[in-house]
Amino acid sequence: MRAVTFQAPGEVRIEEKPVPELGAADDALIRVEASGICGSDLHIFHGQVPVEPGFTIGHEFVGTVLAAGADVERVAVGDRVLGCFHTACATCATCLRGDYHRCERGRIFGHGANLGDLQGAQADQLLVPRANVTLRRVPEGMSDDVALFAGDVMGTGYHAVAHAGMRSGDTVAVLGLGPVGLCAVQAALAGGASKVFAIDSVEQRLAMAADFGATPVHLTEEEPKRVVRAATEKRGVDVVVDAVGAAAPLAMAVSLCRDAGTVSGIGAYAGKGEVPLGLAWLKGLTLRLGLANVIAHVDRVLSLIEAGKLDPSPLVTHHMKLDEAAEAYAIYDRREALKIVLTP
Ligand code: ZN
Ligand code: ZN
Repeated sequence: MRAVTFQAPGEVRIEEKPVPELGAADDALIRVEASGICGSDLHIFHGQVPVEPGFTIGHEFVGTVLAAGADVERVAVGDRVLGCFHTACATCATCLRGDYHRCERGRIFGHGANLGDLQGAQADQLLVPRANVTLRRVPEGMSDDVALFAGDVMGTGYHAVAHAGMRSGDTVAVLGLGPVGLCAVQAALAGGASKVFAIDSVEQRLAMAADFGATPVHLTEEEPKRVVRAATEKRGVDVVVDAVGAAAPLAMAVSLCRDAGTVSGIGAYAGKGEVPLGLAWLKGLTLRLGLANVIAHVDRVLSLIEAGKLDPSPLVTHHMKLDEAAEAYAIYDRREALKIVLTP
């Protein structure tokens, strides 16, 4: 079968690999019918996340179950399914608390030996461990494009808002309108946010957020703090989502948040940086960080997509063939695409 493999920073390649075989009794084998290229794939592409040369990448997928072990009960051969971007055991102490994203035995698809040694989804076929937990049936009538968001990008945008404890009527600001930020905008509005400020410097992304019902705020041509304060009687917003994942936006999030509000950092932070801790303390802020608990959210997210309250379809800007993966990564790297969907 064909598989998109990481080779070296800036280089991915299609390689021929043996078809994976079922091992554990709760494994499933999937024929991949659509896979997404994600921002975190770009971290691998750039060499920021170390992955062995020849490792198959990709972690967003929709497909059909070709084979399933004896213990797979929740999906069956022939079912059209979508996957979450990682597996979880559902039996460790962390999973039993519902924190599947921190599963002690969790493995991320397509992220190399360090993150679970699980081959990726940008391939003709994919072995899915813990299929009862990792997979869901695609609801009737839902397209591949839309379904593959549920187990990753939309699940992450939803988490950013849910993890912040946003309530109906709250005001929200979202910093960074990449796919996750745009999904967070939709999730906030679907959850009943009374006003969502969408902050970025890319015109098309601001326009898309405005289409979704947010108030676009240009990061540099306007002053986000002044705009937000003017619209909230100088108080600031109840919830700020940092969908960038760096010190500067986190610092801005602290400044935009109201007293005793919540800052939800969903971007992938690395290293160190300066954040105004004194201001955060003085305001009595709640700070919530980390990877999204998509396994806990995926059924709700699918229901909201089915109900038309969430719709990631405008985010799909490119459809390309698996064989064009190298070109697809180059396009994504040049930031010419929001979401590229690869098909066989
Ligand atoms: Zn992803
Ligand atoms: Zn676990």
